[in-house]
Amino acid sequence: MKKNKVNSPRVPVYRDSGFELFDAETTASAFKTETEHHRDPGLYIYSRYRNPTVVAAEEEIMKIEKCSWALLTESGMSAIDVALSIFQKGPVTAPWLFFSEIYGGTISYIESVLKKRRGLDIKTFSPVNGAYDLNDFENVVRGMKPGLIYTETISNPLLVVADIIEISRIAKKYNSKLIIDNTFATPSLLRPLEHGADIVIHSATKYLSGHGNLTAGVICGNDDEIMKDAIEYRKFVGHMLSPDDAYRLSTQVRTFELRFTRQCENAAALAAIFSNSGLIGKVCFPLLRDHPTHDIAVKLFGDLSGGAMLTIDFNGKDRDEKRRRRDSFIQSVSGEIKLVPTLGDPHTILMPVEAVWGARYPEPGMIRISAGFENTENLLNTIKNALAGIK
Ligand code: PLP
Repeated sequence: MKKNKVNSPRVPVYRDSGFELFDAETTASAFKTETEHHRDPGLYIYSRYRNPTVVAAEEEIMKIEKCSWALLTESGMSAIDVALSIFQKGPVTAPWLFFSEIYGGTISYIESVLKKRRGLDIKTFSPVNGAYDLNDFENVVRGMKPGLIYTETISNPLLVVADIIEISRIAKKYNSKLIIDNTFATPSLLRPLEHGADIVIHSATKYLSGHGNLTAGVICGNDDEIMKDAIEYRKFVGHMLSPDDAYRLSTQVRTFELRFTRQCENAAALAAIFSNSGLIGKVCFPLLRDHPTHDIAVKLFGDLSGGAMLTIDFNGKDRDEKRRRRDSFIQSVSGEIKLVPTLGDPHTILMPVEAVWGARYPEPGMIRISAGFENTENLLNTIKNALAGIK
């Protein structure tokens, strides 16, 4: 019986672990092309190497990141592991330079994997008064000649914006590879590859999938040699995304632009309310003029969007009062806004900063907020009512 071609506009979920290779000759040719690491080798062999549903999701991400390849992994952390590990050259690895304001999980990875287990020489560059001094950075790079530089476009939780254009210029000048974690900014605010970054990574768990229902990571680039190394490392270490998650990601990423636009609008509306409430000492949001990296945000993103994250800090006469106001706010919004330790979800969610970061950010009144794409009026009413109830 002739098989009907199903006229679905989507690539289905291919759960096969291995694919049919028919005969010895086809098998030999499939394995030969596989080792050449082409993105599309023609025949699929084994899902840890390559899977058609995963490739379909990668192609959706390539459209929004406007890059020539994207490789999905099973988490943002494994994307970071791939992106970094391919530049490790055994005992001759040059020092690597990390900006200090990066995701806590990446800092733990640096300490526990790169330093403790792999013995790499890792250096850190920190901001002064909430912003990076790039003259100082260039001096450091000139002296150190790092093999690799790593930063996030917008940092967590203080939303420090790194001037990717300038950092990229400096990285090129001193021959350092540049990796950018663009999870918070997303391709909607900035595409670091267009400014000369070698690799962009995302935790696709966040805005790209956007529904809080899967864990994934992606590394994106334009250089074919880097792609081949990344395909090989992902295959040998087994950092491949599952086809089920890839299917959901490939459908959900199609609404990314719509969702993120609304999330940014909601974040800006929240920042305005918090700024005008006498209860908040500090609102960290890059669109606000008093943010230490406001000018860089405007240079990189324009003045219409500052991303969808903000961090507020309740004031009070002492630490106890700040903590009490924080807790009262969290309790009061909890019917609508949940305490969930992630970001980029459909609904607005929050995290108490001191409870998560401890001594790194010890301010007891601080709350990090990830704006959702829910109805703006309802969201603002929830916040206004909670603020009105705080003494
Ligand atoms: N990068 C950033 C900026 C993050 O916020 C996170 C997680 O929160 C990660 C990477 C790691 O992503 P995942 O949790 O998907 O492994």
